[in-house]
Amino acid sequence: MRRNLIDWTDIEASVKRHMESRPGWIPLVIEVLETIKEHADFTGDQPPNIVEIKQKLGGLRIYTDPSPDHVLSVLERAEIKAESTCEICGNAARVQDFYGYLACRCSWCAHDLIDERRGVHSPEPYILNQRLPEVDRDLCCTECGYFGQRVQAWNETRCPVCIMNDWLLKMASNLVSIQSQILQKAEDPAAEAVKYTVVYGHDFTFRHEVFKVTGHMRADDLLERCAHEVRVAIEGDSDD
Ligand SMILES: [Zn+2]
Ligand SMILES: [Zn+2]
Repeated sequence: MRRNLIDWTDIEASVKRHMESRPGWIPLVIEVLETIKEHADFTGDQPPNIVEIKQKLGGLRIYTDPSPDHVLSVLERAEIKAESTCEICGNAARVQDFYGYLACRCSWCAHDLIDERRGVHSPEPYILNQRLPEVDRDLCCTECGYFGQRVQAWNETRCPVCIMNDWLLKMASNLVSIQSQILQKAEDPAAEAVKYTVVYGHDFTFRHEVFKVTGHMRADDLLERCAHEVRVAIEGDSDD
């Protein structure tokens, strides 16, 4: 008989001790073990030996010594819930493929693992789920490949973490957005102008500036000129 992992008089402490690295699944396991204990107390039977609790192919597995069907079906409830629960934080999640290593993580905790593993595998950029054939590419973040948590607003095709990281980067450089609009006089197509609306600022206090670049110039020259104006405006702002 293999060693029993669970002290049935203190289920919570036993589960926490064996699942330190996957805290998001701890409540699921405690819940089913308490159900099994209650049933055993009621019938006067000895609760089963739980011999292994582990992660396999992204899923939760709880192994027992040979046990009656009702015990196995209760344990299976935790395994099914774990398929849609982040192993780290308990958030809604799906199994993701991290270059061959499968883990059920929400987009936030997946990015933590990407950061950890990037150094080991160092493909640039690190894109998830490239080897999972059944993954629907339309539901994957176009930047990191995360499957199943894409933001469905603002015509976004990315997960919330990639959107937030992008914003943090822009905030760090003060620059939020540049929109261009080509103005052209119908009577004189050569006299074109480009209007650039630049949004920049700190701490969600944004400023808008409009630059107009006119004259008989090539498109490349116009862009170069505008980029210069934008740099001057932003650097000027950070001097205050
Ligand atoms: Zn998570
Ligand atoms: Zn992403």
